[in-house]
Amino acid sequence: MFPVIIISGPSGSGKSSTIWNLLKRDNNPCPLRLSVSATTRSPRPGEIEGIHYYFWTKQRFQEAINHQEMLEHALVHQLDYYGTPITEVEPYRHQGVGVILDIDVQGMEQVIQKYPDALTIFITAPDLQKRLFDRGESEESIRRRLETAQKEYQYIHRYQEKINNICLEDTVNQLQSIIQHRLQMIPKEKSCVR
Ligand code: 5GP
Repeated sequence: MFPVIIISGPSGSGKSSTIWNLLKRDNNPCPLRLSVSATTRSPRPGEIEGIHYYFWTKQRFQEAINHQEMLEHALVHQLDYYGTPITEVEPYRHQGVGVILDIDVQGMEQVIQKYPDALTIFITAPDLQKRLFDRGESEESIRRRLETAQKEYQYIHRYQEKINNICLEDTVNQLQSIIQHRLQMIPKEKSCVR
């Protein structure tokens, strides 16, 4: 079984682009998939249900927690709930797939309790404010996201690997090589089969 791969980092650091670009590559060391999170926030233009997120009501989210259907969950940006349904991870781990979780630091702390062998990676980027502005975030959203980023940086030491996203292509290369490296450390009989 390949360990889950937890990727965190402040909003605007380029985590999502890095992950989507990695998934597009055909030379990955192992089959990879991105876990689809559930969230109570509204979809942004272009976001598709079941691809980018499962967009749930607060009630649906609470029911999933009550029924122990979530691997982890957290209130992010002091605003909306986000969480990982267990069904997004467990069946795939058993098939030898490397499951990537794009989750915040609170989620990471919960997941490593359950999977102590998880690979944890923190992605940062220079000039977050400008990146958020360029992406069209409102002034209030930028303020909130930068505030969350300050808090998230305090947890950076909890991650095994850190990448500074200056050039997307380099960042994807680094992420790929970190995963490759971890795969080589897994005893042969436990590593995933292509
Ligand atoms: P956004 O609203 O910009 O898509 O995501 C906001 C933040 O929520 C990101 O930093 C992302 O890592 C985090 N996030 C997304 N999905 C999950 C999840 O399932 N669990 C947790 N704990 N955080 C998540």
